Amino acid sequence: MEELKGIHIIDNSEKKDHGMECWALDCREGVVLVDGGMTPPHVDNIAAELKSMKKGWGDVKLILVTHKHGDHTKNLSKLKELTGAPIKAHKLEAPLIQKAGGVKVEGLEDGEVIPFCGGIEVIWVPGHSEGNASYYLRKQKTIIAGDTIFGDPEGNLMAPPEKYCLDAKQAAKEMDRLLKYDFDNLLYTHGKDIIGGAKAKVKDLVDRTR
Ligand SMILES: [Zn+2]
Repeated sequence: MEELKGIHIIDNSEKKDHGMECWALDCREGVVLVDGGMTPPHVDNIAAELKSMKKGWGDVKLILVTHKHGDHTKNLSKLKELTGAPIKAHKLEAPLIQKAGGVKVEGLEDGEVIPFCGGIEVIWVPGHSEGNASYYLRKQKTIIAGDTIFGDPEGNLMAPPEKYCLDAKQAAKEMDRLLKYDFDNLLYTHGKDIIGGAKAKVKDLVDRTR
C-alpha cells in the first residue's frame, strides 16, 4: 500500500493489523527495500507490492536493514538472490547480520546520507540491539524507525519492550535521537504508523519515558 508518496508499506502480519511491517521506497534511483520480513509468504508480499508499483525484483537497487532480529532479516539471502542488490546496515550490526544470515552486509556510518530518494540518513539508535538503526527520509520528512519505537494497532507509541532488547534502558533513553530530525511521519515495524504530527507524539513518548 502506498501510504505516502513513493513509500509503500508492506504489512506482513497475519491479522493485517500492522504487527510486522517492512517497506519499499520508489526512488528515482531505483527501489529501496527496508527490512525483508521473515518467511516465504513475506517474500510474496514484497513481490505483490513491487507488482503494484509496476516494478520487479530487478528494479530493487538497495536493501537497508534496521537491525539483526530474525523478523527483519531471515529473508535477506533470498532477497539477495532475487535482486542482486547490496544489503546495508549500521556498521556495528552489519557483521552480526552477515554472520547469522550468511549473506554479505555492508556497514553504514551513523549520520551517513544514502543517495536515494533525495537522501536517506542513517540514525544509529543503540539499545534494542548494538547497531540498531532508523532511517530518515529527508524529502518526505519521514522516519522509518524499525524497532527503535514500538506501538499497537491503534498507533499508541511505546519504548521497545525489555524482552526484545539487548539493553532496554538504553533503548528507551536513546529514542530522543529521533527528535533531532524534522519529521511529520513515523513508520515503524510493530504497530500502526503515524502519518502527520509524528514528532509531537515521539516527543510525548520521550517525555513520558524519562
Ligand atoms: Zn527487533
